[in-house]
Amino acid sequence: MGRSPHVGVLGLQGDFAEHLHTLREIGADAIDVRRPEQLGDLDALIIPGGESTTIGKLAERYEIIPALRERIAEGMPVWGTCAGAIFMAKDVPGHPHPILSAMDISVERNAFGRQLDSFEADLTVPILGDTPVHAVFIRAPVIEAVGPDVDVLARLDDGRIVAVRERNVIATAFHPELADETRFHRLMATMATEHDDPGEGAGRRPHPTRRARNAS
Ligand code: GLN
Repeated sequence: MGRSPHVGVLGLQGDFAEHLHTLREIGADAIDVRRPEQLGDLDALIIPGGESTTIGKLAERYEIIPALRERIAEGMPVWGTCAGAIFMAKDVPGHPHPILSAMDISVERNAFGRQLDSFEADLTVPILGDTPVHAVFIRAPVIEAVGPDVDVLARLDDGRIVAVRERNVIATAFHPELADETRFHRLMATMATEHDDPGEGAGRRPHPTRRARNAS
């Protein structure tokens, strides 16, 4: 395909501007997404960090949750960072607002406590190559348990899980967009390209809106 992938960033709250900036830096067509009807035009979506309570509340108010679940079920790649990862999880004990329930993971919010509000770490992420990922954690969650179809992408030195993938969805407890780290965004752009190309990704049904767009 000749065009840049259309990668949305959910712009309801949080550090969506940093993700849009990183996406533009790598040549993706980056779109600030706030309305459910925008989802039909995307090849991939990033859900940023911020406050998962606020993101959940606003996503419900803007009626984004059903449309987003539908796009994920169709195979659209989605990546949630930090609050975005919390929003994606099926199980977040005590979470007061709606979440997407799109990934078979259990997540503990603010897992590093008050003493360690934020910290940085170099992580080994084998799918991104040998160079470690410099990861910024800010009031970060930890992924406490994963279902049978979930691959662990990265752990802290103490073994705690901080990045996972379940088919077309990825969750990271940290913020690559705050550390000049572009490899996760590049991975999303690659997954977006594969998702958009009907020749690849066997068994995937293109979204009707997307079919119309591609046909024109
Ligand atoms: N602590 C926030 C929450 O629970 C997440 C923080 C972040 O996204 N950096 O939603």
